[in-house]
Amino acid sequence: MARSRVARRSTKRERTKKNVTWLTVAIGAVAVVALGAAIAVAAAGVKSAAVDGSTVDISEEILAGGNSEDLAPTAVPDAATALIEVPDVCGMQLEEAETLLAVAGFSVLRVSTPAGDAVPGTVLTQDPQAGSKIGAGSDVSLVYADPEGVEEQASTGTNASTGLVVCIDPGHQSQANLDPEPIGPGSNEMKPKVTGGATGAVTKQHEYQLAFAISLKIKERLEAKGVNVVMTRVSDAVDISNRQRAEAANKVNAALFVRVHADGSTNGDIKGISTLYPSGNSWVAPIEARSLRAAKLVQAAVVNATKAQDRGLSARGDIAGFNWSKVPAVLVETGFLSNPVEDKLLATDEYQDKLADGIAGGILTYLGLQ
Ligand SMILES: [Zn+2]
Repeated sequence: MARSRVARRSTKRERTKKNVTWLTVAIGAVAVVALGAAIAVAAAGVKSAAVDGSTVDISEEILAGGNSEDLAPTAVPDAATALIEVPDVCGMQLEEAETLLAVAGFSVLRVSTPAGDAVPGTVLTQDPQAGSKIGAGSDVSLVYADPEGVEEQASTGTNASTGLVVCIDPGHQSQANLDPEPIGPGSNEMKPKVTGGATGAVTKQHEYQLAFAISLKIKERLEAKGVNVVMTRVSDAVDISNRQRAEAANKVNAALFVRVHADGSTNGDIKGISTLYPSGNSWVAPIEARSLRAAKLVQAAVVNATKAQDRGLSARGDIAGFNWSKVPAVLVETGFLSNPVEDKLLATDEYQDKLADGIAGGILTYLGLQ
């Protein structure tokens, strides 16, 4: 059956590479100033890229005292690539944001989401985040409030938009950022913004790549059921802290914040799937019960779909990406990259499909959509 216009639109990414010429862009002096700023940040970006050192690669859950360990080195950026700092366009009107980004030298991907309480046309989240340094011509994804998304929710049919938003967070990124951030709102306790993640014992696949591949498959399945999906990142070369990932889910008022990871251990025999949920502190008290319910459903469904070893649920009060979340959240550890057999399995399209079937199934049950 044909999908509603809103469902189609929310899954479509429009590429809007703007042709900036001094005659056609009606921004005159603004463009000149913005271009100057872009050149300035580009110069700063190059300088900073050159002094970027090596990073230690330890996942958030491990630093938090978990039982897994991953110590593989992160990818080293190509020193020859000139990097440009991404400007902050959150809160701007879409057109204004696109113009600014085009002038700075980026391509723009539009991702619509129902406007809700937001001012129509406002950019709600951007990926990469402001201050990230990426190559000229790279994509910047903008999630914006779509006023028509709300109007059309009334006429829901099969596969039409449900009006529900799920935020999927593919774990980690191609380069860790070990700068500190508070473990929760108002806390003096710090954790690295985002760590490098695990690496496959045999395949050498990176956790951030695997998490992204599985996340896309989950997104596809949820969208087929009329769920609007917002991704915290749409590429690997981003710089988004765990706090910022939670805030992205908060901004779109996600019905569920789903974080996709893979595990690692110094013991290569350990294998299986576990689901983490927020618990045990005042930050997460408002979301704990709903998160636990979601975690139970997701864990049961993903174990059933994959027949992997069931490592159960893990209640966590020490995860920044949970403590900053105001919406129910779960983190699925989809298997152990340190286990040679599971590593090879995780690398296959077929197994990733099973994982996505299970995780999406659990989410849909939680949302009352199946
Ligand atoms: Zn991880």
